[in-house]
Amino acid sequence: EADTEALLGLAAECGYAATDTAENADLVLVNTCAIREHAELKVFSKTGGLKKIKEKNPDMIVMLCGCMAQEPHVGEKIKKSYPYVDLIFGTHNLFCFPQYLCEVYESKNGGFDPKGHKITQIWDATDEIVEDLPVERKYSYKSGINIMFGCDNYCTYCIVPYVRGHERSRQPGDIIRECEKLAADGVVEVMLLGQNVNSYGRDLETPCSFAELLSAVAEVPGIKRVRFMTPHPKDMGRDVLEVIRDHPNIARHIHFPLQSGSNEILRRMNRRYTREQFMERAAEIRELIPDAAITTDIIAGFPGETEKDVDDTVDVIEKVCFDNAYTFIYSPRKGTPAAAMEQVPKEEVQKGFDRILAAVQENARKRAGALAGRTMTALAEEVNTQDPEYITCRLSNNIIVHVRGDASMIGHFYDVTLDECRNFYYFGTVLCENVKGY
Ligand code: SAH
Ligand code: SF4
Repeated sequence: EADTEALLGLAAECGYAATDTAENADLVLVNTCAIREHAELKVFSKTGGLKKIKEKNPDMIVMLCGCMAQEPHVGEKIKKSYPYVDLIFGTHNLFCFPQYLCEVYESKNGGFDPKGHKITQIWDATDEIVEDLPVERKYSYKSGINIMFGCDNYCTYCIVPYVRGHERSRQPGDIIRECEKLAADGVVEVMLLGQNVNSYGRDLETPCSFAELLSAVAEVPGIKRVRFMTPHPKDMGRDVLEVIRDHPNIARHIHFPLQSGSNEILRRMNRRYTREQFMERAAEIRELIPDAAITTDIIAGFPGETEKDVDDTVDVIEKVCFDNAYTFIYSPRKGTPAAAMEQVPKEEVQKGFDRILAAVQENARKRAGALAGRTMTALAEEVNTQDPEYITCRLSNNIIVHVRGDASMIGHFYDVTLDECRNFYYFGTVLCENVKGY
């Protein structure tokens, strides 16, 4: 999403404005995700859908970029089966998009590649971090901020290190400057983004820890809520938790990806922590920041997973009592070690997934339900999609509350009472505006 905002910003500087559909577009950019097969299938289907539109509008330029573009077999497939894609570019050279756009125009106008005009621009790696790209933000009041790029962890199921390259941190000064600019532009909430935010800054000449960065961001005037994603359990230090405890404007929400509760599976995933270490860290979170929600990611059906392994995962879910979780069915990614391991039969995977999901939902319901009747501070985020009389707001702990109101509330904080719990979210009532945000 952050990359899409940068692409939209670059496109705007080239004179393009966003359209609602591809039907009347001069340029279509397909920005892709490779994390699971489901995401990739969606890309192939959307890209396939562009064929008819391009037949009607042959001048339309189609470009495909992002993580899938970094996968060699995808590049080949696009060139062969989707010949109307004019140009493919990868994750390391996103900032070159305007130059590539020129190349497509030149080739179409009889430039250097008048016949085929299919160009592939993929870099294998980069050490470069390009600052100050123009950005068209999706939301006026909140923004993601990349604090680092890439990942060095090589979890055996994961494609990210292959398509995003090795870990590179941005300079803390550049990040703070970006926060100040965003605050001056009316942004009240920032989300610091990285694949393993705990290892932020280790690669910098003058090292800066994530705890130090987080604290500095929380102290930028005007930034009323700070979120971050994702910490890696193996590196989650007490210093980070203390910074959160001491800054009420850092969200009471820690996304803490478990992946599996079985030590054998964790070992084979190369996660480099045990279930015991994970639970100790989670207990430390509950001890230092008792009002923080802990959410997680869990993968079902990793190669070799048995019923007993699923029992272990359900056991951790119950012991930690996660506030919520994203549960995924393992998706083999070409070129990763786990894709070459013996796979679990589909029916077994589904059984495990269903058990994990049931445990997650039961605990999430319990945790959310326990807040009924409380008054908490919520950021008004958008008009409710089902009933425009309601505004959808978010608590610091990431729980959603729908309150009566209108669009003028968006981007402001309110104290709300949590009246009625519906499984994982609330209906509430606004008491008053809260200018502090907590
Ligand atoms: N860096 C983060 C997560 C990045 S990907 C971390 O380490 O937690 C987001 C989530 O997608 C992961 O937490 C994992 O649960 C899931 N995921 C990644 N690769 C997957 C795969 N091959 N199949 C299924 N889920 C996957
Ligand atoms: Fe993928 Fe996250 Fe593991 Fe990196 S730490 S390899 S992004 S799951």
